[in-house]
Amino acid sequence: MRARFVAGNWKMNGSLRANTGLLDALKAGLNKSGNVEYAVCAPFPYLGQVSAALSGSAIAWGAQNLSEHDEGAYTGEVSGAMLKEFGCRFAIVGHSERRALFGEDDARVAAKFIAARRAGLTPILCVGETLEQRERGETESVVGRQLDAVVSAAGAAAFKDAVIAYEPVWAIGTGRNATPQQAQDVHAFARARLAARDKALAGLTILYGGSVKPGNAKDLFAMPDIDGGLIGGASLSAPDFMAICAAARR
Ligand code: PEP
Repeated sequence: MRARFVAGNWKMNGSLRANTGLLDALKAGLNKSGNVEYAVCAPFPYLGQVSAALSGSAIAWGAQNLSEHDEGAYTGEVSGAMLKEFGCRFAIVGHSERRALFGEDDARVAAKFIAARRAGLTPILCVGETLEQRERGETESVVGRQLDAVVSAAGAAAFKDAVIAYEPVWAIGTGRNATPQQAQDVHAFARARLAARDKALAGLTILYGGSVKPGNAKDLFAMPDIDGGLIGGASLSAPDFMAICAAARR
């Protein structure tokens, strides 16, 4: 059985004070249970706080981005090795906000995926189509291209234990989630596409992301190829995030 996983993406939200309340509540409410794993991906400046709060708990943590470079004259960038020093297990790469707002193309996303691996981090690779692409019937070609770019650059072996997040851009932060069947169809496609490169990749954890809330999580997570969620807005509320985690338990 594939592992279940729920990860929070705090985006550019939080404060020392707000994080303390959120982290305390998550730590008290989320215990090691069955085969569900949990993580929060915090803004860089709070990784020390998150590490101090969550060490020894059932919740792992990660970053929302990393540099494709290991060190040097890259003002403002943060390397995978730096994230490791703060105990990060995960790094999100290729989030649609980074693709759209910061010009990250497939090649750069692949370089970041490879940099995460070099640093011993588990990448959470985000893929997904825009509304226009979906309406033009291009969902599979877009998601296929985004996956192929990273598999070709990194090699199938680099995907061992990696996490994929299917996040339709039109569902992120809009309150409009994909239906369970829409999400399932793309997850099944992505799984088959990866398996075609290497049979072992059929067992990868594939998360759905896009306006997952306590009220829709159970139906989404009940689909056979959906292994959990990447949660944006709802991960800022401890009760909501914990309810979504509970929905991932089998
Ligand atoms: C995300 O940021 O990855 C995300 C899925 O956001 P939201 O849950 O707010 O749609």
